Amino acid sequence: MILPIVAYGAPVLRTVGKDIEADYPDLQKLIADMWETMYYSQGVGIAAPQINKPIRLFVVDTEQLFLRMEDEEKEEYGDGPGIKKVFINAHVQEFAGEEWTYNEGCLSIPKIREDVLRPEEITLSYVDEHFQPHTETFFGLSARVIQHEYDHIDGKLFIDYLKPFRRKLLKAKLDDISKGKVSVDYKMSFPK
Ligand SMILES: [Zn+2]
Repeated sequence: MILPIVAYGAPVLRTVGKDIEADYPDLQKLIADMWETMYYSQGVGIAAPQINKPIRLFVVDTEQLFLRMEDEEKEEYGDGPGIKKVFINAHVQEFAGEEWTYNEGCLSIPKIREDVLRPEEITLSYVDEHFQPHTETFFGLSARVIQHEYDHIDGKLFIDYLKPFRRKLLKAKLDDISKGKVSVDYKMSFPK
């Protein structure tokens, strides 16, 4: 089932997500719905707060990004062929590597893309969809998308990293998004 994506301005996007238990109601259906919603909206990741659930759950598929890339671009990101994973109860253990810039966007903030600096590597502890525990380090583009989605379960957004003057320039656009004054070709719910 395709779920509406919560737009910028909704309090759930500013809520620190809670860990869940293995008996969380209809968890497998929720995960399936998140994949379906993500692919329908042409995202490479989606976090539970974006479908109005303040819990520590997100999914990431960077395999599709690598499939679309030219060879030289693949070399630049160096972490091909990407990952397709479900992250539950994720907690950051460590950030490492040099910071690098990438032009990010967000399904909750349509039509805005900005350069964001983030570290090259992230180590996370999490459980997968079968509640098996993992501690794993991710690199490159996968680490980038994971950090963006991880921020969502901590109530953060990529625009938080922008310089104040840049945020100011975007203010009118962001207000329009929260009022639904934006055209998107996927399902959204607007806070105002
Ligand atoms: Zn996002």
